[in-house]
Amino acid sequence: MIDRNATYVDGKWTPGAAETIDVENPATEEVIGTVPDGTTADADRAVRAARAAFPGWAAASRTERANCLRRLHDGLAKRSAEIAETIATDVGTPMRIASRVQAAVPLTDIASYVELLQEDEPEERIGNSLVLREPAGVVAAVTPWNYPLHQVTCKIAPALAAGCTVVVKPSEVAPLAVYQLFDAIHEAGFPPGVVNLISGYGSGVGEALVTHPEVDVVSFTGSGRGGARVAELAARSVKRVTLELGGKSANVILDDADLGTAVKVGVANAFLNGGQTCTAWTRMLVPVQRHDEALELAKSVAEGFVPGDPLDPKTKLGPLVSAAQRDRVHGFISQGIEGGARLVTGGNTAPDGFERGYFVRPTVFGGVDPDSVIAQEEIFGPVLSVIPFDGEDEALAIANNSAFGLHGAVWSADQDRAIAFARQVRTGQIDVNGGAFNPLAPFGGYKRSGIGREMGRHGLAEFLETKSIQL
Ligand code: NAD
Repeated sequence: MIDRNATYVDGKWTPGAAETIDVENPATEEVIGTVPDGTTADADRAVRAARAAFPGWAAASRTERANCLRRLHDGLAKRSAEIAETIATDVGTPMRIASRVQAAVPLTDIASYVELLQEDEPEERIGNSLVLREPAGVVAAVTPWNYPLHQVTCKIAPALAAGCTVVVKPSEVAPLAVYQLFDAIHEAGFPPGVVNLISGYGSGVGEALVTHPEVDVVSFTGSGRGGARVAELAARSVKRVTLELGGKSANVILDDADLGTAVKVGVANAFLNGGQTCTAWTRMLVPVQRHDEALELAKSVAEGFVPGDPLDPKTKLGPLVSAAQRDRVHGFISQGIEGGARLVTGGNTAPDGFERGYFVRPTVFGGVDPDSVIAQEEIFGPVLSVIPFDGEDEALAIANNSAFGLHGAVWSADQDRAIAFARQVRTGQIDVNGGAFNPLAPFGGYKRSGIGREMGRHGLAEFLETKSIQL
């Protein structure tokens, strides 16, 4: 049992709340640890510590901030293997992805801001005005469970680089890796109060944090429902809010594309982390003439995602994070079947031999109606909808027929054609012919996928105020 019943406030670990929250291993259904079910008083203590530390950290030199972040990077790098194992155990991410993505991307997040801090402080002159960018204040970082460490580091690294102080409230579902992060934060020697950790449910400690009068910025990643509630609450005291929410991304395979590659990469993308990825390309759009061929290919690739123990390095598909998530996903699969979509592989029952653990069969639907529930709702499981289109105009209309606008993909033998298509898709990111993830590129959504951008230079804007001094 991993007992992390503690908060990290003002540079010290202190015993947590009287009540605790159990953390489960979704592959075995066993309780593997506990964290505090924090209270309003915890949130208040953490925010006050962050407020007290703000003037000093805001005045710290870029070198001092970079040095702390560099030490944090090194402390985290030292713990990479343990962190990967933790996330394989509390999220259920297969070990290969837990190492290469879950434990590795946070290092890139932090390193990119160490690098940016090497540049001189930007200053701008506009006519007789000197325009400055100053730290925005105390930040509340509220994060989800699916990439539990990256979602925290992609907020705290830019916030700390900008000179803000932070209170982190990780997801109550899979919080253990964030405790390992704070072990590294403690060693890195940040001044007390600069980075703080509290734990608990969104409705309790989460709401106490986002309504606290001493919080200036709320940076939220999570569900649309959670985000809308947080934005509403934070608006009452006119806080700055950024939201990173869900997605229903389209993977558009144009008629001249290499179908085999596009389908293979597309299925792998849709099933990454068991489909519990906000950017997952869960709608695969294929030319109607090649629909059956695409389904055959998708079926064979999907069936290669054999469910297994996340700790086994060969496993490609782990369990979903919780019983609630598994039941929700099974519900969507049932709706797909009832709605008349063609079930090509998978289904709404546990995979053979996996009665224990929250496993879901890798599932592909064909001939999906673009307006149907499974083509519109974020399912957050290994469920792919293949949608036929007739011509490029229809492909674009279907791609944009979504309440979300986070990510997507387009494939064509002609890169210029693909780029021209990508320009018309209403999403914050889109990959052309499998273009690689770029940790320095702005990340965020149009429409219901959110407000604001994280990562790289653009990610600093969320944490900076602008001041004009007239000379
Ligand atoms: P969630 O909204 O249930 O919870 C996210 C966080 O918000 C948790 O820490 C939770 O405790 C807290 N929270 C919930 N309600 C709150 C409230 N009223 N006040 C304050 N805090 C509150 O989301 P989840 O289930 O943890 O995460 C899955 C969702 O996150 C999916 O929709 C996914 O697409 C989205 N997501 C988006 C991105 C992105 O960058 N766009 C990245 C990862 C996940």
